[in-house]
Amino acid sequence: MGSNAEANGNNRMTAEQHRVRRVVIVGGGTAGWMTAAALAQQLGGAGLSITLVESAAIGTVGVGEATIPHIRDFNRALGINEAELMARTSATIKLGIEFRDWGRIGDAYFHPFGAYGEQIGPAGFHHYWFKAKLAGEARDFGSYCYPIVSARNGRFRPPPSARSGLLAFNYAFQFDASLYGAFLADFAQARGVERKEGKITDVIADGASGFIAGVRLESGEEVTGDLFVDCSGFRGLLIEQQLKTGFEDWSRWLPCNRAWAVPCAIQDPAGPYTRATARTGGWQWRIPLQHRIGNGHVYCDSYAGDRCIMSPTSATTRPSGATCAKWNGPTA
Ligand SMILES: Cc1cc2nc3c(=O)[nH]c(=O)nc-3n(C[C@H](O)[C@H](O)[C@H](O)COP(=O)(O)OP(=O)(O)OC[C@H]3O[C@@H](n4cnc5c(N)ncnc54)[C@H](O)[C@@H]3O)c2cc1C
Repeated sequence: MGSNAEANGNNRMTAEQHRVRRVVIVGGGTAGWMTAAALAQQLGGAGLSITLVESAAIGTVGVGEATIPHIRDFNRALGINEAELMARTSATIKLGIEFRDWGRIGDAYFHPFGAYGEQIGPAGFHHYWFKAKLAGEARDFGSYCYPIVSARNGRFRPPPSARSGLLAFNYAFQFDASLYGAFLADFAQARGVERKEGKITDVIADGASGFIAGVRLESGEEVTGDLFVDCSGFRGLLIEQQLKTGFEDWSRWLPCNRAWAVPCAIQDPAGPYTRATARTGGWQWRIPLQHRIGNGHVYCDSYAGDRCIMSPTSATTRPSGATCAKWNGPTA
């Protein structure tokens, strides 16, 4: 048996062997550039080399216009100025989502990024509202929610500070996802991320462990690394095609397997919110940006048939679900 000092020395060696020095991100869509930007901002000074490989010939999904308030936390962690972000990505403010016709035709429900009314003493606001409603003295519930009233009136002001005593709320953005990717690409590259253009034709596996050691580009160039992040989109080039991690199909809970997207010009001033309208066998989105309205239809071909497809080439086909594991590799 070895001494404690020997064991500590061995542990240090193992830790040193496993130290991540080179990160390779496969894919330059929103996922790839968000990963690159976050790693460069948080760990860029720690001697980490970050390389992102993308292929213009393959391109990106290009949709993904509607976000939720967590995007603001992400941007804040990167130190991104929101006014600059909005200008660069043709963004609009999103105060929530209006759901139309979901329960029955004519129904409308607004999901706001904020609370309804203010808690009064130990009781929630809805108790007071309900009592007032029974007495015929209350307006509709949404009238007591700042983001809903603001969205209905097509207006916005930044949320008040916690000390102001005014009702707090949050917001998100609707933006051109391709422009957001380009914005973050500039951000990441300015902080040392290296971008490599080229189609990956092979994944190089480590002979002993079988784990990924590198990727080979069409040009023959090899990009090697210690940690790989698969941002190749639906293809799952590393996590699925190479490592066969498995895909958990959620079709039985979320029967949506097709989608198409088609933008249109802005007709009327659109409110600062996303609209989701129930349709036969699926639902339709409407997302106002500064320069266009994003529209699309998500549905299940078992229920809607292909009547919903505008042109067969415009449809994205994929069952709902998720990769079985987000991490596949050595655990040490
Ligand atoms: C119809 C539809 C509507 C959506 N709406 C929203 C929405 O409103 N809000 C939202 O948050 N999300 C939305 N999403 C989801 C969102 O668009 C996607 O999750 C996101 O855009 C995917 O980005 P990604 O970077 O993972 O993949 P992609 O955009 O597909 O990028 C993949 C990258 O991998 C690269 N790549 C792939 N194979 C190779 C190869 N062999 N060699 C080199 N490079 C390769 C490509 O070049 C590309 O750069 C929507 C998705 C769809 C389909």
